[in-house]
Amino acid sequence: MSVLIDRIGSLVTNDPELGEGPLGLIEDAALVLGGDGRVAWAGPRAGIPQAAADERLDAGGRALIPGFVDSHAHLVFAGDRAREFAARMAGERYEAGGIRTTVAATRAASEAELDATTARLVAEARRSGTTTIECKSGYGLTVADEARSLAVAGRHTDEVTYLGAHVVAPEYADDPAAYVDLVTGPMLDACAPHARWIDVFCEQGAFDGDQARAILAAGIERGLVPRVHANQLGHGPGVQLAVELGAASADHVTHTTDADVDALVQGDTVATLLPGAEFSTRAGYPDARRLLDAGVTVALAADCNPGTSYTTSLPFCIALAVREMGMTPDEALWAATAGGARALRRDDVGRLSPGARGDAVLLDAPSHLHLAYRPGVALAAAVWQGGARE
Ligand SMILES: [Zn+2]
Repeated sequence: MSVLIDRIGSLVTNDPELGEGPLGLIEDAALVLGGDGRVAWAGPRAGIPQAAADERLDAGGRALIPGFVDSHAHLVFAGDRAREFAARMAGERYEAGGIRTTVAATRAASEAELDATTARLVAEARRSGTTTIECKSGYGLTVADEARSLAVAGRHTDEVTYLGAHVVAPEYADDPAAYVDLVTGPMLDACAPHARWIDVFCEQGAFDGDQARAILAAGIERGLVPRVHANQLGHGPGVQLAVELGAASADHVTHTTDADVDALVQGDTVATLLPGAEFSTRAGYPDARRLLDAGVTVALAADCNPGTSYTTSLPFCIALAVREMGMTPDEALWAATAGGARALRRDDVGRLSPGARGDAVLLDAPSHLHLAYRPGVALAAAVWQGGARE
């Protein structure tokens, strides 16, 4: 069944050829979702084609935006770290090692439990408007547990990332080189068939530049495309390594030098900012304004994980980006939709122009500005994924 969404007060297409500015904004608009699950038509109401669709939905002057593209999530885990959060809010500092708590719980969980948690979080994300979500492994850290995590992730999304190199597995604490051998050898063999991407946490307390390079190179050799957790907790080689290896995305990018910014400008790696992590660790936010002014492509993602950013809400991240990181509401919305699509090298999502997947969010608001203007409010009144209303 095709549907005409009529009387849209403000339509964000992210197609500058269809409307105004980078958001391709059209006022007093309409959009047709075709029976094939794709956008069939988008434009001003005056141009609605004859016999446009089987059904008509009156948007009543509200805004329609592309579904959010969340390019960074850790959804396959067990356990809860609320106490660690409370302790941190009481003054303790976050270090990369907290991941090990979740590793123990994840290994002990059944596959059905992991599957249920992942399904619950994907559904939660969708309710706030996320229609594409990436999902990483990284809480198994054995050959069998990493492969199992990826198999679970693959039941809920096509964007699956092998993150055996999240931290050094506890069994290898005294011999990190042997763990790198495992991650680039038998673990990669077991995981590569389940994944599109390979990721590494390049950070003090996790993996250094040489280890990260070896891990990503091994993945590239197996046909995986790199993405990198880079420069979250301090300056480091992650951002420049990501650009050098042609990574789709460098994620976090909180601590950057001029050379890091220059590298991002020269290369085609997206800088994916994850303000939920700075919020939840009470850390300083990345300077998005500096990156944007330099000409870097910026994405926003929620980084849903049980330790440092237990949120699936991109509207929340948009509000943080606008309030704390110097982004305009337009830039933040673009980053959470088209930017996320760039970070996943997808051109079928993150936009609402003909041919794109029918992923759209009707906001209970007259414009997308309300996403930051009304923080903490559930504004997604209706969500379509592949043309089907959820
Ligand atoms: Zn992450």
